[in-house]
Amino acid sequence: PPAPIDLKRYIREVPDFPKPGILFYDISSLLGDADGWAVALERLSRATMACAPELLAGVESRGFLLSAPLAGRLGLGFTMLRKPGKLPGETISLSYGLEYGTDALHLQKGAVKPGQRVVVLDDLLATGGTLEASIKLLGQAGAKVVGAVVMIELEGLGGRARIEGLGIPLTSLVTYQ
Ligand code: IMP
Repeated sequence: PPAPIDLKRYIREVPDFPKPGILFYDISSLLGDADGWAVALERLSRATMACAPELLAGVESRGFLLSAPLAGRLGLGFTMLRKPGKLPGETISLSYGLEYGTDALHLQKGAVKPGQRVVVLDDLLATGGTLEASIKLLGQAGAKVVGAVVMIELEGLGGRARIEGLGIPLTSLVTYQ
């Protein structure tokens, strides 16, 4: 049988973005390749289905790129975890620490039903701060978070331990040291 496709082939590594010394993993090149994107969606879809979710949640903004097509494919709805000032109507929010300063994520009131099984998606896991805040916010909204799925995992930054420490199984498609 042919060797499985290595998705790293499609992920561009951009040095010194957004700041000097940072190596940025760019999924634009993966999104732009029909074959690569199809394989990624297939693998994301399997990882997501394994958690038997009733709703998907995407983290602004590249998490939306995963949650929207997957929801369509799996016949589910999805909700958006957004930066402040983006969602109309009443929201609940959670602040979280960044390397420099803090940020916050918001979720619309009523977006999640009590006890609803939710899988949260983002493009990349680094320290896990963003995903941890997402999981906690969904929990505060009454969701039962049943899994986290990311395309890229940067190992050695403690992200996986942080998510698994919350009791949430984490799946990533590709890992970098
Ligand atoms: P964390 O909160 O430290 O895990 O950082 C993850 C968040 O930062 C995710 O929402 C990513 O979209 C973003 N991020 C951090 N580094 C990269 C990168 O190299 N490529 C794309 N997104 C990144």
